[in-house]
Amino acid sequence: MIKVTNLTKIYKSKNKDKCIAIDNISFTLPDKGLVFVIGKSGSGKSTLLNMLGGLDDVTSGSINVYGNEINKFNEKDLYSYRTSLVGFIFQDFHLLDHLTIEENIGLSLKLLNEEYKDKVNEVLKKVDLEGYNNRYPNELSGGQKQRVAIARALIKNPNIILADEPTGNLDSNTTEQIMKLIKEISKEKLVIIVSHNLYDAYDYGDRIIELSNGKILNNLIYNKDYSNSIRVKDDEVVLPLLRQFNEEELSKLLIECRKENIKAIKQDNSKFINFVECNEEDKKVKLKKSSLPLKDNLKFSFLFGKGRILNFIMSSLMTAMIVIVLALAQSIAYFDSSKIIAQEISSNNSIYSVKKNVDSVKGEKGIKKIGEEDYQEFLATGADVYKLYNKTTYVKGSVYVCILEQPVFSKRVFLSETYGVLQTNEEYAKKLLGVDELNIYTNGVEYRSEGIYITDFTAHSLIYHGRYNNLNQIPGIHKDGNYTRAYINGIIQTGYYQKYSMLIEEMQKLDSFSDMNEEMLELYDYIIQALAIDYTFDENYVEAYANALQYQNYQYTYKNFVNNEETTNSIKYIDLGSNYNEVLIGNEAYMDYEVYNKLFGTNYAPNNLHTFEPHEITYTCYTYQDELLISEKLYVTKLVTSRDSRIQVSDEYFLKFKKNLLVCYGLYFDSDDYAGVIDLTQKGDYITNSARMSAVQTMTKAVSVFNRFFDLLMFILIAACVFTLVGFGSKNIKSNIYEIGVLKAIGCKYKNLTIMFGLHTLVIVILTVILSITGFALFSDIANTILVESLSQLAPGYIILDLGFISFDLNLILIDCLALALIALFSTFVPMKMLKNIKPISIIKAKE
Ligand code: ADP
Ligand code: MG
Repeated sequence: MIKVTNLTKIYKSKNKDKCIAIDNISFTLPDKGLVFVIGKSGSGKSTLLNMLGGLDDVTSGSINVYGNEINKFNEKDLYSYRTSLVGFIFQDFHLLDHLTIEENIGLSLKLLNEEYKDKVNEVLKKVDLEGYNNRYPNELSGGQKQRVAIARALIKNPNIILADEPTGNLDSNTTEQIMKLIKEISKEKLVIIVSHNLYDAYDYGDRIIELSNGKILNNLIYNKDYSNSIRVKDDEVVLPLLRQFNEEELSKLLIECRKENIKAIKQDNSKFINFVECNEEDKKVKLKKSSLPLKDNLKFSFLFGKGRILNFIMSSLMTAMIVIVLALAQSIAYFDSSKIIAQEISSNNSIYSVKKNVDSVKGEKGIKKIGEEDYQEFLATGADVYKLYNKTTYVKGSVYVCILEQPVFSKRVFLSETYGVLQTNEEYAKKLLGVDELNIYTNGVEYRSEGIYITDFTAHSLIYHGRYNNLNQIPGIHKDGNYTRAYINGIIQTGYYQKYSMLIEEMQKLDSFSDMNEEMLELYDYIIQALAIDYTFDENYVEAYANALQYQNYQYTYKNFVNNEETTNSIKYIDLGSNYNEVLIGNEAYMDYEVYNKLFGTNYAPNNLHTFEPHEITYTCYTYQDELLISEKLYVTKLVTSRDSRIQVSDEYFLKFKKNLLVCYGLYFDSDDYAGVIDLTQKGDYITNSARMSAVQTMTKAVSVFNRFFDLLMFILIAACVFTLVGFGSKNIKSNIYEIGVLKAIGCKYKNLTIMFGLHTLVIVILTVILSITGFALFSDIANTILVESLSQLAPGYIILDLGFISFDLNLILIDCLALALIALFSTFVPMKMLKNIKPISIIKAKE
């Protein structure tokens, strides 16, 4: 039984006008029979029906359906109510065009997780549509469609069937068929029909509720004693209420009317009499609770998406393109130059060595000493670290010559001096020089721990500059004029000339450094990093013969022996060295007279050096950072003529200074993983000795300039992704809003709807992921080539290498895709959430 008590429905329109659609009505309806709700348009019929069907909410009052107060139902209960207790038939049929007749009908049962095949045939037979299973709705006539809609309502065997003007869109013949079918159904169920067709109501109705302005005007019940035929009663012909007569009946009517005693023709008003409420015992019906199984959810999801495949592909392509550009932007935004440099070293087997740069400390350019802490820091990265000492071997034989930056392009191949002494082991030396064996030519000279090994390249340079005539002369003491410069233990035969003579000749012809090709660049690095240095494999190596302790910015503080005033003076490039031609003891020192004059303002000349009076000076040496390095008292006993600006001290003192002054200015690294080393290099003021690495660093710096721009671009692209996907999600739901409304009306749960339409977005995401990964794999190479080419056009004169700035990074793109999936979910659930709160009836109305 349905018991409606004090039911009121008030619509509030946008401009806050109230419309009382149903005004405090009460009535009861039985378990079976055909109930007509009639009334003028706007009287509240549909409103009442929708509330009874749980499609619309109640303003006040209660609706009790088989013991269930449906006005108190929550969203979930309402779904169950719509699935199990009521079946809806709409004026516009509201079939789902994507589904076949069988699927349309079966869907109702599927929502209850029941098998439908047999039952579909059963109900199709009932509505006289046998064999129409696989047709689509638009292949049927209006009447057939409505019968399908009836079958859909019938199949789940509901207690109540609600129909809103089911014949409103049908012709009279079809209407009759449908009404007869409905009448048939009402023998077992309660059928409530909204209609404005009074004939139908009086012809078929068991109950009639007439509404007017939201109130019950008449509440009638069929009078069982009523006769539906034309009768004669006394002097009156009595016509049945509101009936259309057939030929036979009409002729009977004519005959009766012509009879003489007939005074009037009357309509019999007693077909329906006022309904008197009685308090019946109510049976409670429980709601069925179950939901669409996943398999069917997937199936329907597919069916609803079928018509939109092109849209899916376009959306995926669009999103994939954005993701690809996003990944490219990220590659540059997160571009890690250390990684690239490390990769370059490993893949090219390059030597990696650094010097410490002092750009702009006190306005001087030069090389800063590498302190013990620096060394330890590099060691801590796990790499093998070798020190390149400051000592250079004079080859050309001249005053101090700056370390050559580009020996190859000074139009000669050979060196003026070497770059220093690398203290390492034989293994690493072999690796550096690219030789299997260290083939050393000693010419039988004795080994000394302060001695060095030079390469055949350096030896050839010595011969080229005329310092020796042949290799035999080279091992042993190496002098520059009177001054011992080095002790050469032997010559390492690298065989470089056999390997590279052609290339060296070609290189000499080049005008510009940047004209070098990759091969030449490699050779160039090999020369400056491996061939043009000296080697020692001795742990006790000390530069005993060296005089080249070049430090800039020495300070000499002395007490003026004339007026005893303390004066500080500074002079650049004063060396401290031992002199093996003189015997000096303790803190005794000789000084070059010119240097002395400069410092003390005297006028000594070679002819009056004997007039010099010995005195004490303080030799103070600072580092570039103005840290005190040495402060020692020296006793100058003699002024001398020397070609170098230096102070000669005793061996004993030289070694004492040496301890403090023997510093390395370069480090060589050997490691499996250079990342740590390179990180430190990038952080500190180090520069690499390698031309190739310099080029890499310059290029990576250039690319890094764009980091922030691409950071920004990334945000824009992510936003574009969000918009595209949210756009797709909401558009997908909007374009299916009618289907969603119908599904809701026939009892489909929110959860199932979410899966059905969320799946569409999932498909987009999967498609996008596949397209993105393939696209990024394809485009990363092309994009990189474009980037490298652009750089070479932007920076003519620089060495441009084909570096992998943008590389296919699966992790990167997977993270993007994961983010994408989250966005997509969001973009599905937000519009779904919005839909959740919309009453199915408003959605359906939106279509009408
Ligand atoms: P009927 O089906 O009898 O023609 P309805 O039940 O559709 O009438 O409407 C009853 C009254 O409620 C009408 O005045 C109509 O304008 C109003 N009404 C119906 N639906 C809405 C709505 N969603 N918002 C505001 N007013 C509505
Ligand atoms: Mg209506």
